[in-house]
Amino acid sequence: MYDDIDSWCQGQCMNANRRKVRTYQHALATYDAESSRWHAPLVLPEPPATPRLAYPIYGEPVYCSACVYGIKAQLSQLDVLACVYLRECDGMRGASSEPRVSGSAEPPSPSPALDELDALDGWFRSWRADYLKVDSFARQGLLVDSLTYGCAWLTARAERILGRAEVAQLFGDEVIEWHNKLSGVAKTEPRRVPKTLRCPQCHLATLSQLEGEDRIECRNSSCGENRGGPKVMTLDEYEGHVADALLAVQAVRRAS
Ligand SMILES: [Zn+2]
Ligand SMILES: [Zn+2]
Repeated sequence: MYDDIDSWCQGQCMNANRRKVRTYQHALATYDAESSRWHAPLVLPEPPATPRLAYPIYGEPVYCSACVYGIKAQLSQLDVLACVYLRECDGMRGASSEPRVSGSAEPPSPSPALDELDALDGWFRSWRADYLKVDSFARQGLLVDSLTYGCAWLTARAERILGRAEVAQLFGDEVIEWHNKLSGVAKTEPRRVPKTLRCPQCHLATLSQLEGEDRIECRNSSCGENRGGPKVMTLDEYEGHVADALLAVQAVRRAS
């Protein structure tokens, strides 16, 4: 039974079917094992019911046309997701334990987000090389330009790559993996929002808030060095400081 399962579309359109078949086969194996141990006076259990499946859609040769279209759409979004990913992860975004601080003399710490995008660019280039049957491509120009070019180049050839039985599934799996990786971070990690007021303790513009948290903190690692560490306050306290600052500005205006 289900001996044509390998020729079903390997995309998500057949995921539910595959899951039901796996569950059924597992239940059937358990049932067979139990009935082989069966003896009177035990009651033989009911065999598992065959699953109700959607009518199978076959790969052409690996994916159906709807799944090819879906993977191509995900591929085409990778360069935009890469930009969002970099913006979300870089700089203030806790890319490393030592946040970059304006005015600090330390060199910027290496960014894991950049490493990730570097790997994405390498992935684009290796599939381009594979397609053109050459060994490899060196990056030309800036990373962001290379990503935009690499993404567009592969997207234009996605149907042909996804139509090759030998590589289609590997390519499709990798596109989905990249898409999940880049869009997952952009969605699940809260954004760090910089605040306009300067830190009342170190006077640098280094205050920020993790979206949705009642906690404003100074990200200058040397803030409050001899006074118990960087400034942390609630939103209420921050707004109190904002009100004070406004009053001070108004007082200066009135005096002049
Ligand atoms: Zn499909
Ligand atoms: Zn501070």
